[in-house]
Amino acid sequence: MEATCKNFEKCPIYSGVLKDKKTTAHGYRKQFCDAGEKGWSRCKRFLVKEATGKCPSDLLPNSFKSLEDIVVSMS
Ligand code: SF4
Repeated sequence: MEATCKNFEKCPIYSGVLKDKKTTAHGYRKQFCDAGEKGWSRCKRFLVKEATGKCPSDLLPNSFKSLEDIVVSMS
């Protein structure tokens, strides 16, 4: 089994925001959070947090926005 993203405990996608949408949350976890480095290294939330130390609460793992656009919109 692949390792889980180091951010999972505080990530609302993993445990909070989507708790009422189990199918969606399960899909994200399978595709990103629980898929080892190849999974979370594609997650926009993970990448934004690595780049800035924080992440907008409503950002989705598969956001269509570029990392650069997301970071600019945070400032
Ligand atoms: S992979 Fe992304 S969505 Fe999943 S826990 Fe990590 S930062 Fe959150």
